[in-house]
Amino acid sequence: MRHRIAVVGGGPAGLVLARVLHRHDHPVAVLERDPSPDARPPGGTLDMHEGLGQLALEKAGLLPEFRALSRPEGQAMRILDPAGTVLRDWYPRLDDRANPEIDRGQLRDLLLGPLDVQWGRSVAQVVPRTRDGVLVRFSDGREEAFDLVVGADGAWSRTRPAVSPATPHYTGVTMVETSLDDVDTRHPGLARMIGDGSVAVYGANRALVAQRNSGGHVKVHAKFRAPLDWHSNLDPADAEAVRSGLLALFDGWAAPVLDLLRQGTDFVHRPLYALPVSHTWTHVRGVTLLGDAAHLMPPLGAGANLAMLEGAELAESIATGSGDLDEAVRAFEDQMWARAGGWARFTAAGLERLVSPDPAEALALFDRVQPS
Ligand SMILES: Cc1cc2nc3c(=O)[nH]c(=O)nc-3n(C[C@H](O)[C@H](O)[C@H](O)COP(=O)(O)OP(=O)(O)OC[C@H]3O[C@@H](n4cnc5c(N)ncnc54)[C@H](O)[C@@H]3O)c2cc1C
Repeated sequence: MRHRIAVVGGGPAGLVLARVLHRHDHPVAVLERDPSPDARPPGGTLDMHEGLGQLALEKAGLLPEFRALSRPEGQAMRILDPAGTVLRDWYPRLDDRANPEIDRGQLRDLLLGPLDVQWGRSVAQVVPRTRDGVLVRFSDGREEAFDLVVGADGAWSRTRPAVSPATPHYTGVTMVETSLDDVDTRHPGLARMIGDGSVAVYGANRALVAQRNSGGHVKVHAKFRAPLDWHSNLDPADAEAVRSGLLALFDGWAAPVLDLLRQGTDFVHRPLYALPVSHTWTHVRGVTLLGDAAHLMPPLGAGANLAMLEGAELAESIATGSGDLDEAVRAFEDQMWARAGGWARFTAAGLERLVSPDPAEALALFDRVQPS
């Protein structure tokens, strides 16, 4: 008999889990809160690491399509100081496929493929150990029972309380995101400064990072240490007020660098939260977590990669194991916790160095992870 499996959330974790189960002809219900795939902007670009995200795509049978869509040149990285002096200018070798970039929207569409996602199904609560199995309660009051419910519902997971009381804490670093469109034609000077990949400028307790997406789109992130209510005197919906607030924060930086903020359209406030490093829980039969729901960490290029590999591994563990669902989930959890714990420590320490009182820390971290 096939197990009744539901995955809550159709992000990178949930979709890879579903694609790999689908590849093994195992049915799975994908329950996604968004009413449709394009209900909100898909976000920026993701780098897919060779042994993580790319391995997950291989397990889903999607590596050739990924290679055709991804941008290896997007790995290029330039570092400036606040005066605009170039400190590092790293370009990948022609055959370097270690961490190519792909737009989130392209990755989502690739993963969706033949999947029959249930859109507009917002989960309110997951109740383990009922007579029918694990009960999923939806926001519209409906209920459905499964043998296994996988919480892949991100930072503010509604599945997590079924296994763990942990909640994300503010890291002390806030990010404000803005965008540039048609950068090569509308802002050629900025296009040259950004290059084919990213440019990062590190100052004391603040940084500006601009990253090229496909089609001449650029995402700019201002990162800085601040209390959560740093913008209490600003109307977050007033783009000009947010821009002025940011320009004041980065006062004294070179004009071409500040143009990243001056030319940006729309500002999105993203305070960075994280779950406790090495978050684990006592195993609960019939419920598990993966991706950000299990180990939300600062965005240093690992979260989606881990989420996807976990999705693939859990699916394989279920589809190719002995048939004992609980045994498959326990084995998966042990493997996930061991790997994610290391990344959680690395990214927490990395955030301290990237947004540090001493900008030399950021440069030293870059030299460690990206030796030329
Ligand atoms: C600016 C930024 C840049 C990043 N860059 C990278 C990078 O380059 N590489 C990398 O590996 N990681 C990166 N990350 C991290 C990465 O985005 C996350 O780790 C990743 O998206 C986690 O995937 P997930 O599937 O676990 O969760 P999510 O992507 O958050 O997906 C969760 C899904 O669940 C749905 N959902 C939520 N609640 C419910 C509910 N109650 N009911 C039903 N559905 C629900 C949501 O709508 C969503 O579709 C970055 C993060 C940020 C903020």
